[in-house]
Amino acid sequence: MAERKFMKKPPTIAFHTLGCKLNFSETDSISRQFAGEGFREVNFSDPADIYVINSCSVTGKAEKRCRALIRQAHTHNPLAQIVVLGCYSQIAGKELLSLPGVSLVMGNTEKYNLFEHVRKLESGSDKPFVSEDTMQLPENFVPTWSQDGRTRSFFKIQDGCDYQCAYCTIPLARGKSRSDSIAGTLRTAREIAGTDMKEVVLTGVNIGDFGKPHGESFLTLLKELTKVEGLERIRLSSVEPDLLTEEIIRLVADHPVLMPHFHIPLQSGSDAMLGAMGRRYTTALFAERVDTIRRFIPHACIAADLIVGYPGETGTHFNESLNFIQGIEVSYLHVFTYSERANTRAAGATDHVGVAERKRRSREMQELSDQKKKLFIEQNRGRREYVLWEKEEQGGYMFGFTGNYIKVKTPDQPGLANQVQEVTLNITDENGVYVA
Ligand code: SF4
Repeated sequence: MAERKFMKKPPTIAFHTLGCKLNFSETDSISRQFAGEGFREVNFSDPADIYVINSCSVTGKAEKRCRALIRQAHTHNPLAQIVVLGCYSQIAGKELLSLPGVSLVMGNTEKYNLFEHVRKLESGSDKPFVSEDTMQLPENFVPTWSQDGRTRSFFKIQDGCDYQCAYCTIPLARGKSRSDSIAGTLRTAREIAGTDMKEVVLTGVNIGDFGKPHGESFLTLLKELTKVEGLERIRLSSVEPDLLTEEIIRLVADHPVLMPHFHIPLQSGSDAMLGAMGRRYTTALFAERVDTIRRFIPHACIAADLIVGYPGETGTHFNESLNFIQGIEVSYLHVFTYSERANTRAAGATDHVGVAERKRRSREMQELSDQKKKLFIEQNRGRREYVLWEKEEQGGYMFGFTGNYIKVKTPDQPGLANQVQEVTLNITDENGVYVA
């Protein structure tokens, strides 16, 4: 194996994140360690001394993407140190270490000490290895937040999950549900409030379960976060239906800092399928949550996750799902096609839905989602909303999102980026994007 040397000073490092907001929040916090230690960050497509991939194992596709990135990095610089962190490492560490170029594989506990390990590698006092932590589930909670030049920060407030949904590998990679105390979380929130970012997205695996280790609650945390000076907009990422209480919905209705945007994993509109998946609610409860949101916040955005083609899902179950969604006021869906995951309860199922049929169902559900979204956009025509303008410019326009997560564009104006501006949602372009 060719001798690896970091002779170029400063050493260059490239990060690539796969998966969820949580991963982005963690990569950004980890990468900030390096910036302060004389490493120069480069794009992942450029030659680098060190490549770091924060991996995901939610789907086979995400794992395949990680292996492709490893090959890409090794091609860019065969002498580079390639480090793989995160969920895929946690569940398949040894497999990853066997891939050409990989010199460090770290799970969801040790990844926060990446800098120490890279320094040892650099000094040659460490050999390629899989860190111990891939052998046991993570138990520690490390708060992280992203700051990568954007207008909003992914703020990790919770990690792990105690639910055992039959199709899900996340608890196998991220361990039990855990979080910092409210006092600790507020300390981190004040750190973020000290930057120029205007919005935080509360992120985790099961954020509604926040506070369990400390006998505290998500509702109390939200109330306290609304008092943090400098946090102008707080957006919630996905909250399990059984944890999204009326009190939380009413707090969002009453408090302008909390964005009227709910992301609720439904997964199926058939109670038989919800039972098979091991979900903790029925369609009746889900519908009641949607009604409660509409009662207190009529213009709220309600996005729902949905899996099609789950083992045992008959045509009847699928039509039940379609009809259920047709009958509730969600704004749009995130449609996922079921993919088998090893070591899950569903992995043993035999009554699989054919791949072609899964794709057909996914198309049909996506069409319904597009109809719902069009209606949601139309229902907001004429309303006044506050938009947080983002930095990216495209075709002479800059973009932003309203509180209820509607995309808006306006001719590019320097100085408007990262500003919150009140607009009237009137004119839409050919793609249904409002033009301010
Ligand atoms: S709630 Fe279910 S689907 Fe979500 S992370 Fe936990 S086990 Fe996975």
